[in-house]
Amino acid sequence: MRILVTGGAGFIGSHLCDRLIAEGHQVICVDNLFTGSKENVAQLENNPNFKFIEHDIVDPFFIDQKIDQIYNLACPASPVHYQSNPVHTMKANTIGVMNMLGLAGKHGASILQASTSEVYGDPEVHPQTEEYRGNVSITGPRACYDEGKRYAETIFFDYQRMHGTTIKIVRIFNTYGPRMAFNDGRVISNFITQALKKEPITIYGDGSQTRSFCYVNDLVEGLIKMMNSAKEITGPINLGNPGEKTMLEMAQKIIALTNSSSKIMYQVLPVDDPRRRCPDIAKAKTILGWSPTVELGDGLQKTIEDFRDRL
Ligand code: NAD
Ligand code: UDP
Repeated sequence: MRILVTGGAGFIGSHLCDRLIAEGHQVICVDNLFTGSKENVAQLENNPNFKFIEHDIVDPFFIDQKIDQIYNLACPASPVHYQSNPVHTMKANTIGVMNMLGLAGKHGASILQASTSEVYGDPEVHPQTEEYRGNVSITGPRACYDEGKRYAETIFFDYQRMHGTTIKIVRIFNTYGPRMAFNDGRVISNFITQALKKEPITIYGDGSQTRSFCYVNDLVEGLIKMMNSAKEITGPINLGNPGEKTMLEMAQKIIALTNSSSKIMYQVLPVDDPRRRCPDIAKAKTILGWSPTVELGDGLQKTIEDFRDRL
């Protein structure tokens, strides 16, 4: 197949491109390099089945070659990045998403949207099932991302109902692994960088807030299973690892795994920071036959090795 991956030069997108190329597909990676980098796909540069196109999905995109599938991952994912230009984040999730839906319609391609656990906001239901409608601030600093992604899900279903587009929506929970950007401000990249540099580990708030971390290879497997599921399977489906940890536990684990002398430093909790997050993955298990396989310790070890090499 010829497969378009928007955001393909980013953290998750580059692993997805690797996997699709390994499976023998032709991959067109479309990325504006806002948070991604060509280094992430340098290993594919000379592969005749791989093509990189620098492009912002907010601008219309045309291509003559027939496209079979579109994975729409183009959107900055870390709070630091998506809040640095919130208007552009909104544009990527609205105008950009519509451009990709239009492209899918023109080519008769299936399209998968990388939605997020952030659509649940600061959840009052725990763990989060797909039926839960969320507790999201409409006007807060995270809203450009949370509400943007909610809008994207809405317009996906509108295209499906109006035009019969084959849509696939996955709600991705916190994912980590090699190639995360050092400067993205996310907890795993911050903690590993700080631990390796023997700098203070910055915990926001008292560290009792929770997240559930999924290794990137597991996540990519879920994306591919969802994309290749039967047409009537639209999602939204949660993809994540239900192993819930507090940020204090994560800091202690990373200090131990890196054998670091770093000390913990407490800082102010960002506005609207969700208190708890854990996916209910019953749907992914029964509908896709997917569940994560990589243990947190093993995944962190691989991520630490990658950070050590790059640092
Ligand atoms: P990332 O920031 O590493 O990757 C995003 C990629 O999209 C980057 O290469 C960036 O340059 C590109 N991009 C951003 N805006 C663009 C635009 N307007 N046009 C073209 N390219 C653009 O983030 P990631 O962690 O790889 O996330 C990928 C996708 O998965 C995002 O849509 C994100 O919302 C979603 N997601 C990620 C997580 C996670 O924990 N990593 C969790 C939930 C959802
Ligand atoms: N966090 C932290 N220290 C950091 C970076 C993040 O304690 O240096 C916290 C953050 O406040 C949040 C959690 O870790 O509660 C996960 O943050 P991240 O930005 O990785 O993901 P998200 O909040 O989008 O789930």
